[in-house]
Amino acid sequence: MQLIDGKLVSKEVRKSIAEEVTKIIAKGERAPHLAAVLVGHDGGSETYVANKIKACEEVGFTSTLIRYEDNVTEEELLNKVIELNNNPEIDGFIVQLPLPKHISEEKVTETIDPRKDVDGFHPQNIGRLTLGSPTFVSATPQGMLELLKYYNIATNGKHCVVIGRSNIVGRPMSILLSQKREPGNCTVTVLHSRSENLKEICRQADIIVAAVGVPEFVTADMVKEGAVVLDVGTTRVPSNETKSGWRLKGDVKFDEVSPKCSFITPVPGGVGPMTITSLMINTLKAANKEIYK
Ligand code: NAP
Repeated sequence: MQLIDGKLVSKEVRKSIAEEVTKIIAKGERAPHLAAVLVGHDGGSETYVANKIKACEEVGFTSTLIRYEDNVTEEELLNKVIELNNNPEIDGFIVQLPLPKHISEEKVTETIDPRKDVDGFHPQNIGRLTLGSPTFVSATPQGMLELLKYYNIATNGKHCVVIGRSNIVGRPMSILLSQKREPGNCTVTVLHSRSENLKEICRQADIIVAAVGVPEFVTADMVKEGAVVLDVGTTRVPSNETKSGWRLKGDVKFDEVSPKCSFITPVPGGVGPMTITSLMINTLKAANKEIYK
């Protein structure tokens, strides 16, 4: 069994992004600039945004954090999105989800200029992803593709079972892995809460992507010998051993599944670190106008 070290891969990718930023600045151009809009004080969102800002510092990007209280109106937020769309000093931006219930996430996402949509959530970018055209691939699936590439994990012709069909993880990952490219060319099965014979289907998988959000959902009896397992799950569970009082648990029962695997991602330290690094990749692409010329 080989552990897929997301921290290591992430460090290497960030180093190469930092080198590129140095070259950009040496040419007399400004550093890539990512803005993040954060509404409210949700613990998870605070942590994600803080880590994104930290990653920007690490690679030499400029970052701007725009904060609103929970009671911000939809109109105010949409006006900020339009302002960011029109600001030539900002290459890409994200609006951290989830948003308070009185604000339509759909409206906010659709108002973001697709050329600055580094989260890859805009319908235009998702459409391009589906067609296999250049696009901002959402961060978590892109991170997993980077991990598969880094470890030279063969995907060609393999049966990949993706558990979960969310718009930000399961769905795009299943599309990407089915496409005619490497990593890709998989035969993909997508499982969800209505799937029948889930365990049986998982047992047929060469590659399992677990994006369920249920701790330790994937058990050893669902995994065949030699399978590759990518664990996306990051559920906070109570813990007496940490200062915060919680720790992250993956969707895979790591202790019993890992001995059967050829490769597996741990939680934490697997898929997670690459997610934020992928956002940096997308911001660099936005600054270099690689997707939309
Ligand atoms: P989500 O939107 O809640 O989607 C979960 C998916 O799992 C849904 O498609 C759901 O099916 C399916 N599901 C739930 N219970 C199931 C069951 N008992 N059997 C089969 N399928 C089941 O979650 P998400 O946004 O994709 O995130 C999934 C997990 O990944 C979460 O723990 C999240 O925190 C984590 N995550 C981690 C990162 C990272 O960077 N590491 C990034 C994003 C997300 P239905 O569609 O039928 O409801």
